[in-house]
Amino acid sequence: MEEEVKVLIIGSGPAGYTAAIYLSRANLQPVLYEGITPGGQLTTTTEIENFPGYPDGVDGNQMMVDMRRQAERFGAQIRTGVITRVDLASRPFHVVVDGEQELRAESIIIATGATAKYLGLPSETKYRGQGVSACATCDGFFYRKKDVAVVGGGDTACEEATYLASLCRKVYLIVRKPFLRASKAMQQRVFNTPNIEVLFEHNTAEVLGDESGVTGALLRANDGSERKIDISGFFLAIGHHPNTELFADQLQLDAEGYIVTEGTSSRTNIEGVFAAGDVQDPHYRQAITAAGSGCVAALDCERFLLR
Ligand code: FAD
Repeated sequence: MEEEVKVLIIGSGPAGYTAAIYLSRANLQPVLYEGITPGGQLTTTTEIENFPGYPDGVDGNQMMVDMRRQAERFGAQIRTGVITRVDLASRPFHVVVDGEQELRAESIIIATGATAKYLGLPSETKYRGQGVSACATCDGFFYRKKDVAVVGGGDTACEEATYLASLCRKVYLIVRKPFLRASKAMQQRVFNTPNIEVLFEHNTAEVLGDESGVTGALLRANDGSERKIDISGFFLAIGHHPNTELFADQLQLDAEGYIVTEGTSSRTNIEGVFAAGDVQDPHYRQAITAAGSGCVAALDCERFLLR
């Protein structure tokens, strides 16, 4: 017989674990599947300095181990496995784990996160976490008074470049096209910031570095000429990919693929299905906002189940 669960949480990042803490304390026995990245994105970084409650900073892996322990303490079942199929047509929802095991869930909290896009250069992968970052808000502080580069030409890239310009000595904005895609207001902010140099029609050929991390980047202009810049930080701002393939034809998604939630709630367009964290947040994408929205989803879900 198929297992039936009251609440299924998909994802083990800050959103999923926070939802699990609240729901287990409410005695709703949540079952959480970790997916291929147990602990989520924070396990791919080292020091977290902006999560409240850790005055001396905390290792990303350690923080996620702590969140997991906190959820388990109140009885949440954390399971290894990837959700490979969901059918949201009727409740209880039909779910397949690892392509074989089936279960039914009265409610679902989706906390599958979003993945930053990278250029795909081997040298970029090599220095990830050692100067290569996809989050200026998270890592900019480590490059105070240093020279850095931002890749991208949209609003996010311009926002990250101006943010970094307030911390760093110099910011190169590397733009593939001969123009910025960002809004006019954002472009003006970039052009009015004296320590940002925009390099139009340039691509990154290689991220350069040594045992200390990133030391520079080799750029190739569209006319074939090459140029080397000396930098300590290399920031990608070419977009994120929300992990929503599973739900594509079933849930309302926005143009970029993020799950659409109702107002400030976590409710999706299907009753009993809630979304939390980066998977529904194209704007903030921080651990604390993900955790906060995991709490919102747990409370929404609790109200739904107790109704
Ligand atoms: P995620 O952390 O992305 O977790 C998603 C989870 O869903 C994963 O466990 C994954 O395995 C699971 N999953 C996906 N698909 C499935 C499936 N089909 N079945 C089961 N599970 C699935 N934020 C900060 O606030 N401070 C920082 O210093 C900071 N540094 C960062 C450094 C790096 C390198 C990166 C990449 C991000 C950083 N962030 C930081 C951002 C922060 O990590 C994210 O905002 C946060 O992790 C989002 O949490 P989430 O719970 O929404 O999803």
